[in-house]
Amino acid sequence: MVKVVKFGGSSLASAEQFKKAAAIIKAEDDRKYVVPSAPGKRRSGDTKVTDMLYQTYDIAEKNGNYSKELAAIKARYDEIIKGLGMDFSLDDEFKIIDEKFKEKAGVDYAASRGEYLNGRIMSAYLGYEFVDAAEVIRFDEDGVFDSSATGTLMRKRLSDCERAVIPGFYGAYANGRVKTFSRGGSDITGSIVAGAIRADVYENWTDVSGFMVADPRIIDNPESIDTITYRELRELAYMGASVLHEEAIFPVRKEGIPINIRNTNAPEASGTWIVESTCQKPKYVITGIAGKKGFCSVNIEKELMNSEIGFGRKVLQAFEDYGLSFEHVPSGIDTLTVFVHQDEFMDKEQQVVSAIHRLADPDTVDIEADIALIAVVGRGMKSTRGTAGRIFSALAHANVNVKMIDQGSSELNIIIGVANQDFETAIKAIYDIFVTAAL
Ligand code: ASP
Repeated sequence: MVKVVKFGGSSLASAEQFKKAAAIIKAEDDRKYVVPSAPGKRRSGDTKVTDMLYQTYDIAEKNGNYSKELAAIKARYDEIIKGLGMDFSLDDEFKIIDEKFKEKAGVDYAASRGEYLNGRIMSAYLGYEFVDAAEVIRFDEDGVFDSSATGTLMRKRLSDCERAVIPGFYGAYANGRVKTFSRGGSDITGSIVAGAIRADVYENWTDVSGFMVADPRIIDNPESIDTITYRELRELAYMGASVLHEEAIFPVRKEGIPINIRNTNAPEASGTWIVESTCQKPKYVITGIAGKKGFCSVNIEKELMNSEIGFGRKVLQAFEDYGLSFEHVPSGIDTLTVFVHQDEFMDKEQQVVSAIHRLADPDTVDIEADIALIAVVGRGMKSTRGTAGRIFSALAHANVNVKMIDQGSSELNIIIGVANQDFETAIKAIYDIFVTAAL
């Protein structure tokens, strides 16, 4: 069995955390390929090394003197090296970084050094080979991740090393110029490595014991999710549940490889399994609840709309023309409502309204702001009667008015629109009826 193990920034923020990560790696012989993040926050109020690198490079780019800032970054690594009792120095690496900053090697190069240097320490500490991500992760000329070139490079390079450390977050163009993924991108690297070598499991070690049924900022100590499907995760992640980078599921999903989210500070907890499909029954009827505030509804009415073929297309054309993506489009006989992100819509609202008039000739267009959308997600809903009934009675008892309901035909999720100010109350009511009441 081969496992790819990725450790997040908080799991590698100090020597103490490094030791925990190393103990986890050494505890199982299958943990052969390690993907480290850059050192994250050691405590609240601390700064991530990646942010320090961005700030330092910003000074370099403006031809300022950044020596103090670069020394502070070096001190973060030296503290780790010292705490690990290693005879190891990054002095030469920092000389190179300083030169590259002077040459203005680019902001991506700068940011990538966080992972690169942590990877260097990790490889020396574990005695695993170091494989620079710039050698094995490829972007095409347009800056798009090149999955096929990467797969070939990765498989070739890793075929002759049994164990290796591959830093997260970056890769390179064919000419060697470094490029990073978006923030939090080490999750993607771990998934790419696992997918390329067709590992058995991708373990993603972080500082929480997996996915929670609901946001812990809203629900005190929410239950965690044992097993979630990729599809369920996608729904929840889209609606704001974040533990893993959104794009991290694709490389492993393609190969049918499960992801196991684990907690570096509680390695005994089995965490959350993210799988393609499972016969395991979820603990509760619902797998998770997530939501976001800040949507707007654009309600369009027209007499006999229902008999006008192409009306919906014309309305959506108005949104497309202004580069707006829509979230949901519930419709009635003579009404159609389009939900959009309020912050994206606000500046363009009057243009969009006139475009709707021009293109679709409706009777009225009415806008309502400050709406929250909540997704209640669960593969268990499919075979259970009365889920929607329970949700709406719980909301009624909590005095929450429901503005919109949308259930996809997959029966995997029910989306509910409520006023922003009812958001937290609604989530609590749904959590209580399905989880607290079942405990
Ligand atoms: N270090 C990078 C960041 O802070 C990437 C990562 O941690 O995944 O975004």
